[in-house]
Amino acid sequence: MSEDIILPATQAMTDPFGRDITYLRVSVTDRCDFRCTYCMSEHMTFLPKKDLLTLEELDRLCTVFIEKGVRKLRLTGGEPLVRKNIMHLIEQLGRHLETGALEELTLTTNGSQLTKHADALFEHGVRRINVSMDTLDPDKFRQITRWGSLDRVLDGIRAAQAAGLRIKINAVALKGFNDAEMPEMIRWAHGQGMDMTVIETMPMGEIEEDRTDQYLPLSQLRADLSRQFTLEDIPYKTGGPARYVEVRETGGRLGFITPMTHNFCESCNRVRLTCTGTLYMCLGQEDAADLRAPLRESEGNELVSAAIDEAIGRKPKGHDFIIDRRTKRPSVSRHMSVTGG
Ligand code: SAM
Ligand code: SF4
Repeated sequence: MSEDIILPATQAMTDPFGRDITYLRVSVTDRCDFRCTYCMSEHMTFLPKKDLLTLEELDRLCTVFIEKGVRKLRLTGGEPLVRKNIMHLIEQLGRHLETGALEELTLTTNGSQLTKHADALFEHGVRRINVSMDTLDPDKFRQITRWGSLDRVLDGIRAAQAAGLRIKINAVALKGFNDAEMPEMIRWAHGQGMDMTVIETMPMGEIEEDRTDQYLPLSQLRADLSRQFTLEDIPYKTGGPARYVEVRETGGRLGFITPMTHNFCESCNRVRLTCTGTLYMCLGQEDAADLRAPLRESEGNELVSAAIDEAIGRKPKGHDFIIDRRTKRPSVSRHMSVTGG
């Protein structure tokens, strides 16, 4: 007789490549109070408000995912903290932390609203947030975000730290814009007790700029940083795609997210939900499933649960990001603010 132990069937979501889906990212709005040049065009057309899921519907959908095995939930956007009454949703989702069904509730934010919300975030169970910040120079900050204020974000970071939130700084590496500033940013972040992650620009959505001009392979950035820092690979993982090093000189952690130069798909454990209830199984593919219709069709969750299973069953093996130098067209037409990065 075989020695193999046969486990009982669980509700877990496993894709065709054997990857368990335990991480849900939810873009709660496509709107934002910034207009970062690599993310949005200055004059964006946003979704009509009537197409959005209500906060109650978002809560219901997230709860179905948690019942189906999601352990980590990240709210993003657009700017998640500009959605009206968003703290109500965060409070509601916090109940899953109390029961232990959810391990982590977190968010990615541009930091502009943190002074207002930091204490409540902590109160509702959030312990860690990512703040996106690409430069420490106020003029350059205004230039890259078009509408943002560095001082306001720095105040937000201080408020979040005072509230007890741990912060990771996310910076998009942009050739000729912030590459020379990276060592200073790393020293600053680590000096404040924050991890930092650098991200390669991804070709998503039409913007005014030329992405082939902005794109900086992180292999090159890492080589540049190695000239002044000692970078030691470490096995640290946060459940995301970043690979971390410890910077010996600062004692802090630095992550590299390299979708373009190094494919991170083999360990992908996530799916992405938009504020209209569209589920994207991969950040870098157009294929999607509509969950709004099955959610609204029935008061029970059977239909939506079946639609999720069907969607997970066609999660692709990986993305095909390329920056096409001939056409200069993005390989994915939707903006990052729709799926939330
Ligand atoms: N507004 C929030 C923020 O900026 O943190 C959350 C949404 S934003 C779309 C999430 C992350 O995606 C940010 O760190 C941002 O820098 C990054 N991002 C936006 N467009 C990108 C692109 N084309 N390539 C790489 N990262 C991008
Ligand atoms: Fe807004 Fe974030 Fe996009 Fe910047 S990166 S425009 S802050 S959604």
